[in-house]
Amino acid sequence: MKRHSSPSRGARVLVSGGCGFIGSHLCDALLARDDLSALVCVDNLWTGTVDNIAHVRDSRFSFAECDVEKFTSDSLFDEVYHLASPASPQWYMSDPQRTISANIVGAINLLRYLKEDGRFCYTSTSEVYGDPVVTPQPETYLGAVSCTGPRSSYDESKRVTESLLFEMRRTRGLDIRVARLFNVYGPRTRVDDGRAVSNFISQALSGAPMTIYGDGTQTRSWGYIDDIVEGLARFFWRDAIDYPGPLNIGNNREISVGGVARYIGDLTGQPEIVHMPSPPDDPTNRCPDLTLANKILPGWKCEVPYEDGVRRTMQWFRDVMKPSPDVRRAK
Ligand code: UDP
Repeated sequence: MKRHSSPSRGARVLVSGGCGFIGSHLCDALLARDDLSALVCVDNLWTGTVDNIAHVRDSRFSFAECDVEKFTSDSLFDEVYHLASPASPQWYMSDPQRTISANIVGAINLLRYLKEDGRFCYTSTSEVYGDPVVTPQPETYLGAVSCTGPRSSYDESKRVTESLLFEMRRTRGLDIRVARLFNVYGPRTRVDDGRAVSNFISQALSGAPMTIYGDGTQTRSWGYIDDIVEGLARFFWRDAIDYPGPLNIGNNREISVGGVARYIGDLTGQPEIVHMPSPPDDPTNRCPDLTLANKILPGWKCEVPYEDGVRRTMQWFRDVMKPSPDVRRAK
């Protein structure tokens, strides 16, 4: 691994969005590193929760509760991981300005706290491909994103943050890593997150019908969190890689939304489905071309079959949705 710090002192690392679903798992992976001296988790708890970091018992870890755009620090960082952003359409559409600001203004602010020879890593998204007319999508595909549609706050702020980083690399030689993630799911997703897998699980577990938007034939490629974080760890810090990205990281097994709902219905014994109108600009399909990932991260692949991943996620949801002992006593 390329070291960005003096080996004697260890790396000072910042994760924005570290209380979020993916961010908190990334913090766990970073804390497994013995060359890390400090990990600062920055999060405003908009979509992240302190529950996601409550298990951390490590003196190197600290939490700064603030907007990433307003974060300040007296010292610089060897590595910055910028994940602060809502990722669920329901959440980012509820406050587009805040979403755009977290991604773009957040990145601009964090760049001020990166050491000159530090590395800036960014989790971009398959949303940069919009509703793709090429499938599977290679990194070279320029996408079909609407810059005026309801998904644009997320899609376009991810795209422009990519631009910012690639241009900083071109003009200043900044060391960057840009990953494009495809529909990640797993434990620590909010119960009210609103994305398909988590929504279907929380609906089915609470006895409500699962809401399919449209006819359910639209597809996504669902990646289990452990596999995705393993890919990120290898790309961002573990492997000796001389490639800035963009790199697709995801599962290339494409499954329809209807297929997901039916599987969760079978598992929970609550198979009821209601169809609702499709949200505008909902992509019809999404699947990563992993040719480049196979070359850059040889041997890495999504190991957890979707069926196991959904079971594991469901178990986690069962645990967090269980009424607390006090509530049970009061009944
Ligand atoms: N979806 C659905 N019911 C839900 C949540 C999502 O049918 O309760 C659909 C959504 O319209 C989309 C797909 O599932 O076609 C994936 O949506 P998600 O929000 O998980 O991710 P994204 O749209 O960002 O890929």
